[in-house]
Amino acid sequence: MAKNWAIETKTIQCGWEPKNGEPRVLPIYQSTTYKYDSAKEVAMLFDLEAAGHMYSRISNPTCEALETKIAALEGGVGALVTSSGQNASTIAIMNICSSGDHFIAVGALYGGTVSLFTNTLKKMGIDVTLVDANLSLEELKTTIKPNTKAIFGETIANPALEIFDFEKFSTLAKEAGLPLIIDNTFATPFLCRPLELGANIVVHSATKYLDGHAISIGGAIVDGGNFDWTNGKFPEFTTPDKSYHGIVYTEKFGSLAYIIKARVQWIRDIGSYLSPMNAFLINVGMETLHVRMERHCENALKLATFLETHPNVSWVNYPGLQSHKHFNRAKEYLKGASGVLTFGVKGGMAEGEKVMNALKLAAIVVHVADVRTGVLHPASMTHRQLSSEEQILAGVTPDLIRVTVGIENSDDIIADFNQALNTL
Ligand SMILES: *Cc1c(COP(=O)(O)O)cnc(C)c1O
Repeated sequence: MAKNWAIETKTIQCGWEPKNGEPRVLPIYQSTTYKYDSAKEVAMLFDLEAAGHMYSRISNPTCEALETKIAALEGGVGALVTSSGQNASTIAIMNICSSGDHFIAVGALYGGTVSLFTNTLKKMGIDVTLVDANLSLEELKTTIKPNTKAIFGETIANPALEIFDFEKFSTLAKEAGLPLIIDNTFATPFLCRPLELGANIVVHSATKYLDGHAISIGGAIVDGGNFDWTNGKFPEFTTPDKSYHGIVYTEKFGSLAYIIKARVQWIRDIGSYLSPMNAFLINVGMETLHVRMERHCENALKLATFLETHPNVSWVNYPGLQSHKHFNRAKEYLKGASGVLTFGVKGGMAEGEKVMNALKLAAIVVHVADVRTGVLHPASMTHRQLSSEEQILAGVTPDLIRVTVGIENSDDIIADFNQALNTL
């Protein structure tokens, strides 16, 4: 694999690299198990003394090809694919924080992530503070406690569409000696590479644009290999792991310590690895990532521009619009503002619901990042379980309609929203 390839080439060529006579296209290795010639070889795998596949709960060649591709696109040293995006976020945190620890998350987050952090991780004794992204660096420093172990945020927040302030939060993370974890789902590595902007770990819901066709649930964690786990705050990385005959991850695996620990501890014990079939499907989707993302961005900007001019629309939120509060930040960090926009209909939710029901091309779906255009009402759907304060922090107002703009012809998409808005 050529390191200097452009991202368009990497999305197609990285990952599966067949040797002479092997299938050109990534095969589905639908096997739970692997054959070895001697018991000693298997024992060495179990001791992490040799690299290789032993059981598909922990690794699999089809999944490994996808991991190599995602790591190459993000510019990381390694990746791990998981059963879902939710699982990627869970393991990304659990691999760092234990009961009694604390982490900081920027409040504008995906609803499922808020619920995971504030309910389920809390039950496991891991405490989170959801911070307002507008706080100054000095104010943010006061939220860091002696037991704080990580900082978490989203590149483009779902559905607030706020753009993450990489400069401020990576400075905060560096000064405090904490890893910065970024959910890069909405941007994808085609539009933004957080590791180049100061992040240390990237997580994905591969279910969204990486798959791109609404066919498989999956997640990924990418390790930047650029964080010093030996700074005294992370004993789990620097002291012997009893479950592996006393391995010390930083000593044995160096810059791969984080991602190997995530696999051999968490994936081994929790059992939430991606299936080879879904890895195959996500890999096929990713082969067109760069082509799709360009069209998603183009169509979303056209629809957002149209909606801003429609008399029945009260507001439009899209980071590619000059009117967006983070327009300049989006220009600085992103190659495009992705395919999701939000808007409000004049009158409020009742009128918004009428518009949603009148759409013909755009379907009402819970999903985002599909080739097909869809709409959703977060306050009554994805963000329903959040308290009203959490909804406000997540940027969800009662009248907000989220549009995932597909890659159909933009004139047809605009015509559909126009006829639906004109029914009012
Ligand atoms: C959908 C989503 C998730 C959760 O991913 P699943 O694959 O549905 O588990 C996490 N973060 C963001 C930003 C998402 O949009």
